[in-house]
Amino acid sequence: MNPSLSTAVNVDLHSHTTASDGHLSPTELVDLALTNNVDMLAITDHDTVVGYQDAKKYACTRGLRLISGVEVSTTWAGQGVHIVGLDIDPYHITITQLLTRQAEARQIRCQMILHQLKKVNLPITLEEVQANAGHNHIGRPHIAQVMIDKGYVSNMAKAFKKYLGAGKIGDVKNTWVDLADAVHAIHHGGGIAVIAHPNHYKMTRSKLLRMIDDFQESGGKGIEVISGKQHPDVTRKFAVIANKRALLASTGSDFHRHVAYAPAVGQLPLLPESVTPVWTAFQSV
Ligand code: AMP
Ligand code: MN
Ligand code: MN
Ligand code: MN
Repeated sequence: MNPSLSTAVNVDLHSHTTASDGHLSPTELVDLALTNNVDMLAITDHDTVVGYQDAKKYACTRGLRLISGVEVSTTWAGQGVHIVGLDIDPYHITITQLLTRQAEARQIRCQMILHQLKKVNLPITLEEVQANAGHNHIGRPHIAQVMIDKGYVSNMAKAFKKYLGAGKIGDVKNTWVDLADAVHAIHHGGGIAVIAHPNHYKMTRSKLLRMIDDFQESGGKGIEVISGKQHPDVTRKFAVIANKRALLASTGSDFHRHVAYAPAVGQLPLLPESVTPVWTAFQSV
């Protein structure tokens, strides 16, 4: 077997840049991946491919195999589920339409969150949030940063815990694309849809399995067997699910910035040998 297709290579297929809510620019992320001996990296910013596009040439000239990607915020059964699209054609019409739609949803959601915050006497304008996000997509971390800057909260964790997280006043009904539609768009765009961080959803096991059923019925092909820092039991659990369901296995740090409690890009254990790595199905490899 071509060694580049085995599980024994340093692969990281989930990472963020400043194009969404990561702290490193696309080229800084490529440099970090090279420093950490990554063989294959996917940049999977939230609902945008701009970070990937900015890094592509830079990665190519430095010999890093950069895979196109995106992390799409979707809704399934009224709940938020993140779907990573890997090895997509970032210029395909179904991808650009999907991402345009998501950008609008992000703006609308931001306005809804700001409306809620105003009710509890924490006024913030859309302009303030957009200034913080720059040209990039607005995410809740940008709102949280404005809350910190205005002295409403002391840190990001508190902003989420008190105002922006699940069940809090800023937890507005989301306007994301349906999971099935995101999966279809990713496949029409030549990519592989992967369930991101499956251990992070607050779902019972049976609900999670129902979500996986629907995902596969829509044409979804992969699942993150390794996501960031997780217990080996969790890895084993998702390896078993991947094999039972004939799902391709992905692995990713979900790197946003250097923190003590999470791996940096490329600092992950190897996938279990029993699984089929998702990159064996990449067209671009
Ligand atoms: P959004 O895509 O706008 O819904 O923002 C979600 C992002 O917010 C996640 O990808 C994380 O980067 C970040 N996030 C979520 N929860 C927390 C938290 N409790 N503390 C800090 N950042 C968080
Ligand atoms: Mn994020
Ligand atoms: Mn996510
Ligand atoms: Mn992510």
